Amino acid sequence: TAYLARIDALNPALNALVTLDRERTLAAAAAADARRAAGDAHALTGVPLVHKDIFCQQGWKTGCGSKMLDNFVSPYSAHVVERCDAAGMVTLGRANMDEFAMGSSNENSFHGAVKNPWDTAAIPGGSSGGSAAAVAARLAPVATGTDTGGSIRQPASHCGITGIKPTYGVVSRFGMVAYASSLDQGGPLAQTAEDCALMLNVMAGFDKRDSTSVERAAEDYTRELDKPLAGLKVGLPREYFAEGLAPDVARVIEGAVAELKAQGAEVVEVSLPNTQLSIPAYYVIAPAEASANLSRFDGVRYGYRAPEYKDLVEMYEKTRAQGFGEEVKRRIMVGTYVLSHGYYDAYYLKAQKIRRLIANDFKAAFERCDVILGPVAPTAAFNIGEKSGDPVQMYLSDIYTLSVNLAGLPGMSVPAGFADNGRPIGLQIIGNYFSEAKMLNVAHRFQ
Ligand code: GLN
Repeated sequence: TAYLARIDALNPALNALVTLDRERTLAAAAAADARRAAGDAHALTGVPLVHKDIFCQQGWKTGCGSKMLDNFVSPYSAHVVERCDAAGMVTLGRANMDEFAMGSSNENSFHGAVKNPWDTAAIPGGSSGGSAAAVAARLAPVATGTDTGGSIRQPASHCGITGIKPTYGVVSRFGMVAYASSLDQGGPLAQTAEDCALMLNVMAGFDKRDSTSVERAAEDYTRELDKPLAGLKVGLPREYFAEGLAPDVARVIEGAVAELKAQGAEVVEVSLPNTQLSIPAYYVIAPAEASANLSRFDGVRYGYRAPEYKDLVEMYEKTRAQGFGEEVKRRIMVGTYVLSHGYYDAYYLKAQKIRRLIANDFKAAFERCDVILGPVAPTAAFNIGEKSGDPVQMYLSDIYTLSVNLAGLPGMSVPAGFADNGRPIGLQIIGNYFSEAKMLNVAHRFQ
């Protein structure tokens, strides 16, 4: 009830949540109370949360930030939602996001931009900007998000909270509206690394309905939180501290590294020589996959359908012209182009080769260190409207996050300090495959 009251008071100014259903929320809370009274409680029973509007949730509108799905009430729940429900968590509402998770600022939403609670002139980051703003403003203690090229880490960084994108395959993509399937991964956003670990315990797990879900024994992600850092080898990629990094971000990251050193970590320099190529490679591969994934929105099966048309082809055309926003159309066109006969080898195939080189860079770096540290974004949150007219500028701001998804590695952001203008700055922690518990251990040092 306290969270609902806070949402009523603050959400109109922040635009973080797009769908609320008070009755459902109160019913779920009552069920959690009953469960606790019966002595059948999970660690998170009764804990409220918000789900990014990309996760299908039975009986809730699942709009994915798009006009295309604005009338879509999901008939089933994503694996992640099922797991949260089974733990007895209580859904407070659905979080705003960039349309189909395409964006870095949450300005690409059909529902309008989300405001950063630290400074409402600033973007909250994207695409999980509604989730991050909701947690930062304490409209919810935790939220789900997805990260295809930084969409958990970057909004967490800009909103001064913690977020983790697990190793690809740890969290099931079943019921998560697909953007770029080989890169998409769900994960939690919360105030602390400890809360993220508790949430990951709920969200992670094998699911046979996602063919890329990894079958491994369940882990307790809290198990290493309090481990001393002595002996930990921390790698700093030369390329992350070069041209393009704002001095105040560099200052905060260097301060965080010094703190870990003081706690016993050993610092080594590593190199990720193909970092610059992550932007062109990602912005070929992600749109290519998106162009295929978004072909399902045709006005026939679900979602928006243009009200007037004279034949089937015109129905498709008008539906897609009216239902998708500008950035989504741009990506569909880029993706279709790079996959087309005659261009496939030059763009898509080339990008796949670069993807392998990027993964190999990390492989070599992890022979010399346990975790890699760096910035999440080149600057603190920029102002709403500052980059929305220039897609390339927007894409360039993803430089430190994209390669993690291309390699399938886990990455997280933890609050590390503040920019000269007072906006929060996160430290990025990149781990080797399946080393989430170790990353959370490092992140926990900052709490
Ligand atoms: N900013 C990147 C993009 O627009 C990443 C988004 C994401 O991780 N969903 O594609």
